[in-house]
Amino acid sequence: MIKEQIIELKKILSTPQKIVIIPHRNPDGDAIGSSLALYHFLKDNHYVSIVAPNDYPEFLKWLPSSEDVKLFDKQNKQSKRVLENASIIFLLDFNALHRIGDDMHKTVEQLNATFVMIDHHQEPDTSITPYIYSDTTICSTCQMVYHFLEKLEETKAIDAAIATCLYTGIMTDTGSFRFPSTTSTTHRIIADLIDKGANNAEIHNNVYDVNSYGRLQLLGKALSNLVVLDEYRTAYITLSQEELDAHNFQKGDTEGVVNYALSLKNVIFAAIFIEDVEQKIIKISFRSKGKFSVNQFARNHFNGGGHDNAAGGRTEISMSETVTYFLSLLPNSKKELLKSDETK
Ligand code: 5GP
Ligand code: MN
Repeated sequence: MIKEQIIELKKILSTPQKIVIIPHRNPDGDAIGSSLALYHFLKDNHYVSIVAPNDYPEFLKWLPSSEDVKLFDKQNKQSKRVLENASIIFLLDFNALHRIGDDMHKTVEQLNATFVMIDHHQEPDTSITPYIYSDTTICSTCQMVYHFLEKLEETKAIDAAIATCLYTGIMTDTGSFRFPSTTSTTHRIIADLIDKGANNAEIHNNVYDVNSYGRLQLLGKALSNLVVLDEYRTAYITLSQEELDAHNFQKGDTEGVVNYALSLKNVIFAAIFIEDVEQKIIKISFRSKGKFSVNQFARNHFNGGGHDNAAGGRTEISMSETVTYFLSLLPNSKKELLKSDETK
């Protein structure tokens, strides 16, 4: 975002506005953390709502003011009303409107508001708005919201609630500060957030030490379904709807499971295929280490996208057909997979 746009935004925000903040569908810690952080920053001087396309995992519901998040699919009338009245709409942690799902997309594309996008995914759709703050090198949208507040010269407004939300999103999107996108700047920001009231030990505990028995049993099932393809340095996991049901699956229970496949020595490409009978899809998460771009792989073959080392996609065929298709793609990627160094 260029300096002139920041000046314009600052001017717009100097008078009370009707603002809606939108994270992507199936919001994760970064999407909800950045939305709530911005909400806390804006809510004293503006009319602010957060409208998420659908629900998010229980392990994020302790975040300050989480109860204020409206769900477009469940609180449809209320959500539409605030969207239709909005003068400014922030789009956080996604790069194209199809990422909020078909229904919400149809409503949002008709709105006349000023859109502001803050996002770290590749290839942002620049036709949505001129107000785009996009940086694919930054680990998380939460870190970008911190930088956005720096640009607005407002870091003094960061209180414990904002610090907690930003810390949470940076932590979840960096795999607890371990991915290569974690920089010394990230750590400096994290230090500042702790100084401003983020309780680091409590946040880790709230997000990571709240497993249910069913979730751990499901993890056990996922690990027993793990398939390793040494010749491609690849490993994948499947979870059928039946397996999910047998372990009382709750939203968020499969989050992070794909990383176990990636934690195998010598494996640099991992996938998890999760059946969703209701939506009639197989939802896929891809992860990689080094140069092998799962963003490209997901875009090219699975109607998806994301980042170089973390992406998602879907199919509308059966689990076995999806796995067969996936396996058929590996020989073409073999050269790239074998030469992908583990770190960038
Ligand atoms: P996850 O595998 O954790 O759901 O997502 C990993 C990354 O890929 C996230 O940044 C997420 O926003 C992105 N992503 C996940 N699914 C999709 C998808 O279907 N399409 C696109 N474009 N991005 C996705
Ligand atoms: Mn993110």
